[in-house]
Amino acid sequence: MEHLSQAIDLSSPGTIEAVTCPACGLLCDDLSVERHADGALKVIKNPCAKGVKFFQYTPKTTQPRIAGKPSDLQAAIAKATEILGGAKHPLLSGLGTDIQGMRAVMNLAEKSGATIDHMNGKSSMRNLLVMQNSGWQITTLTEVKNRVDLLLVVGTDIVSYFSRFFERNIWNPETMFGQDTSSREVVYLGGRDLDTSHGVSPKGVQPTVLPCDVAQLPEVLGVLRAILLGKKVIATEVAGIQVADLAKLAERLQAAKYSVVAWTASALDFPHAELAIQNIVGIVDKLNATTRSSGLPLSGSEGDVGAYNTSSWISGYPFRMSYRNDYPDYEPHHYATDRLLAEGQVDAMVWISSFNPARLPPASKIPNIVIGHPNLELETEPDVFIPVAVPGIETKGIQFRSDSSVALPLKQLRATDLPTLGDVLSAIEAGL
Ligand code: SF4
Repeated sequence: MEHLSQAIDLSSPGTIEAVTCPACGLLCDDLSVERHADGALKVIKNPCAKGVKFFQYTPKTTQPRIAGKPSDLQAAIAKATEILGGAKHPLLSGLGTDIQGMRAVMNLAEKSGATIDHMNGKSSMRNLLVMQNSGWQITTLTEVKNRVDLLLVVGTDIVSYFSRFFERNIWNPETMFGQDTSSREVVYLGGRDLDTSHGVSPKGVQPTVLPCDVAQLPEVLGVLRAILLGKKVIATEVAGIQVADLAKLAERLQAAKYSVVAWTASALDFPHAELAIQNIVGIVDKLNATTRSSGLPLSGSEGDVGAYNTSSWISGYPFRMSYRNDYPDYEPHHYATDRLLAEGQVDAMVWISSFNPARLPPASKIPNIVIGHPNLELETEPDVFIPVAVPGIETKGIQFRSDSSVALPLKQLRATDLPTLGDVLSAIEAGL
């Protein structure tokens, strides 16, 4: 058994306990992973499909490429430095990395006068704009695990994004306060064709399901909020949901001792989705006048929560900020990656994707440097490709969990020749 504090031989076979999985924002830290003599990894305790896929990868290459031709690391770094050094308005995007990697991103951004955005910038901004506009009352996964009695899930089934959510946080057999978790209630509001099977309690109690198109959630949530505020609602139905059913839901929320309203911003993919989130925040706010309730914005995949936390504590702003004017400049709409590329406002792009080989850079005609997962499934060859160690497999790291209040250590599980993202970005920065 290997623990963080022990000096460990990363080349010999063994079983690593208490492994943290960074494949989604839940950061489950209860996995056991078996390491074979050839470095192959196998999850042997608490697997889920996404986690198994993440850990079972083996690098197809450790060699950088320049214009598709194999190169050594020094030459690739020199070429990347030349491209960035010649750019007036570079863009550092993707940003799929951990905290150490993100610190190196911020240093390089400041040195090169770059703009930064995350691959999940669009969905993250739905939450960030609401938080910046009105503030919010949200909770942690630990609080959910120990206190929730009514879970309202908005616009998602959660498990499509965070597969072990119910297993770890709702139907957990034990809590700190002796709660009978099998009596917890689950309501799904909005979305269609969701997998609601995970909301069935261990006693077999079915969840309440109130389906509607996610794009109509702002009005549905607006009516639920109006009912809670004691407003008169004349309509009898909204987006196919009976107002009487929303009134019953309002009563259940008011009667609950600790309700939690959960959503995934990625699932709310329609124009002005922040209006739905704004209404959730208002609902939680109103409920707290007489009982306890909290929001739970589920995110954290590809390091997005860590990226905006790191950027915020260094620059004062989350991503979609720029050093192009020599000071941190935040513009949540204009500094979006797709907009910057479409408007020709950047002249070189560095795309970073360390965790997920399927998260590729957007098409562009400007010089581009890709740094990330060795098995990135690139459709077009960038000017420079540098494979780096995957945090949580080939290098240690620290990652923020979905609830943004807990950061967990990622272990190195096997030996590698791959450099870290920090090594590569620091070398580029030193050459500028
Ligand atoms: S639910 Fe997420 S963090 Fe947990 S094991 Fe699966 S992919 Fe990893």
